[in-house]
Amino acid sequence: MSVEVRRVPLDFDAPLGQVWQGYVAPAELRMPLCPACRYGHTAAREWLETFTHLLLMLADETTAAVRRKRARGQATTMHPYFQHLLDQPPTRPGDDIEELTVGLAGRPPRDGMHDGLDRWNATKAIITAAGLDPQTWGVCARCSGEGRIEACPGQAAQLAAWQPVPPPEGPGWQLWSTSGDPTPTTPVFATADGLVDHLVREQGYREAAARQVIADGGSIGSLWLVGGQPYHAARDADQTAVMRKE
Ligand SMILES: [Zn+2]
Repeated sequence: MSVEVRRVPLDFDAPLGQVWQGYVAPAELRMPLCPACRYGHTAAREWLETFTHLLLMLADETTAAVRRKRARGQATTMHPYFQHLLDQPPTRPGDDIEELTVGLAGRPPRDGMHDGLDRWNATKAIITAAGLDPQTWGVCARCSGEGRIEACPGQAAQLAAWQPVPPPEGPGWQLWSTSGDPTPTTPVFATADGLVDHLVREQGYREAAARQVIADGGSIGSLWLVGGQPYHAARDADQTAVMRKE
């Protein structure tokens, strides 16, 4: 979870744990979900994406993948998705399946796994191979792929023109969560020491970590993995600051 130290008025009293109202578009600008699709695609394209997912998963079912999993003590049976397919080949795919999945996805799997972006690109590659245009084939005609429709004419343009309003500035100190829409998470304190004290007593920070977060103005991301050891981006900010310097 990314956090940010914000300077706000001492009497700033926006509800904690709720997105600051200035970042929430007015209700009249909120566009309803498209009734004709789920995410902007037709059902045919959703089925294609599901089958593409299965296809890319074969990169993690090769004989090499089995050796890798066995060395780590992981289960080596094929994924249950593959167990009921019609006319199954009697042996696992060889490493040559990766030539195909890499060709479709445009990049190699990481540790045997293709991710959602790979799935997206491989789906487009298959649509193109079929002689169709991925910009138009399988795109919902009702919402043009947006997944939302206008409640009244011109609503999309009004929403695009809408600008969020940041909180007012002031001398107070407050910690915000900035992983999603910015949300205040602590009371406002008159001094940085007050905020440090709160983070130590109420949120379990070490004092050095709280001071580091304030010196840095915040922290980005959730966890760092260093040598297999997880570090919390905010709560271990003192330790990760030392590592960044090394
Ligand atoms: Zn739609």
